[in-house]
Amino acid sequence: MQTIEQLRSEIDGINRELLTLLNRRAALAADIGRIKSLEGKSQSHYDPVREDQQLRELEKLNGGPFSHATVKKIFTEIFRASLDLEESNDKKQLLVSRKVKPGDTVLSIGNVRVGGEVPQVLVAGPCSIESEEQMDATAAFLSARGVKILRGGAYKPRTSPYGFQGMGVDGLVLGSSVAKSYGMQFITEVMDTRDVEIVAEHADILQVGARNMHNFALLREVGRTRKPVLIKRGLSATIEEWLYAAEYVLSEGNSHVILCERGIRTYEKWTRNTLDLSAVALAKQETHLPVIVDVTHAAGRRDLLIPLARAALAVGADGIHVEVHPNPATALSDNEQQLNFAGFEAFNAAIEPLLRRAPQEV
Ligand code: PEP
Ligand code: MN
Repeated sequence: MQTIEQLRSEIDGINRELLTLLNRRAALAADIGRIKSLEGKSQSHYDPVREDQQLRELEKLNGGPFSHATVKKIFTEIFRASLDLEESNDKKQLLVSRKVKPGDTVLSIGNVRVGGEVPQVLVAGPCSIESEEQMDATAAFLSARGVKILRGGAYKPRTSPYGFQGMGVDGLVLGSSVAKSYGMQFITEVMDTRDVEIVAEHADILQVGARNMHNFALLREVGRTRKPVLIKRGLSATIEEWLYAAEYVLSEGNSHVILCERGIRTYEKWTRNTLDLSAVALAKQETHLPVIVDVTHAAGRRDLLIPLARAALAVGADGIHVEVHPNPATALSDNEQQLNFAGFEAFNAAIEPLLRRAPQEV
């Protein structure tokens, strides 16, 4: 009688043989997949008749002790895995994918770099551009604290058509000239394909807002410019849909894309949205694009901005987006969530120790 050790060592040997055989089978399946693809039969890798024939043949040959049902289950699993391998040849690799470009994309926007190993960026400014005084005070304050990207909406996506809709072209002119006078880059939202040209004339970065993430015509249009584009994740967009939105821009030849997680809609009511940090980690893992986190629209309340920004940096975000207004109580939009200057000082002091430094600062 053999000992358990002897029997186990025999099983180990069989496992090795099975592995070799399974991989030989897999290599043949992959060859068949390539032939079918060349013949243009990419839609028909799954062949239920052939599968059925194989299962019947195996049932005839099966002498136990495995039951027919067990043999069928095991082989069906092997067929599934082979089919995946066959079809993998047909799956187009996305331009946003790290499989296509393993290294991080680092954007150079004026004097700012975003992505990779460079210091994380802060994007800050008011929700809406409201006046020259408001923009000038904000830019003076933020630039003195090292913020290099100034935000401000000139075209506002408002839930109510009667809400403040933004200053339009006057806002664009104001935002870009104030940013320039403080050596900052200007980011602003574009909502309509008809405005892409004029917004691109004034902005350094085009923002596609959460509500427009599924606007494929707009994505294509910003993809035709050569301006950096920041794409907010849609209110109820899956990670895949968000990455496909970026793919639209890249597919038009514009690879200057930043992804921005800004919270998704869930059943939770104590926050405006639910910040999805796994989306940040996954987007970093799956794509080569910079990913930043908009803590303001995610939380919708000031008291959570510091912990959320810390968490975002901890999972690998390339930057933080936060709304800052000289007097949030009087703001024409999002007055519940914007930080005043003192609030930004505290926010900045809390996250500053977590930010990577430029090599010359180390
Ligand atoms: C904004 O950034 O001003 C904005 C409207 O954000 P979101 O599209 O994420 O709601
Ligand atoms: Mn806002």
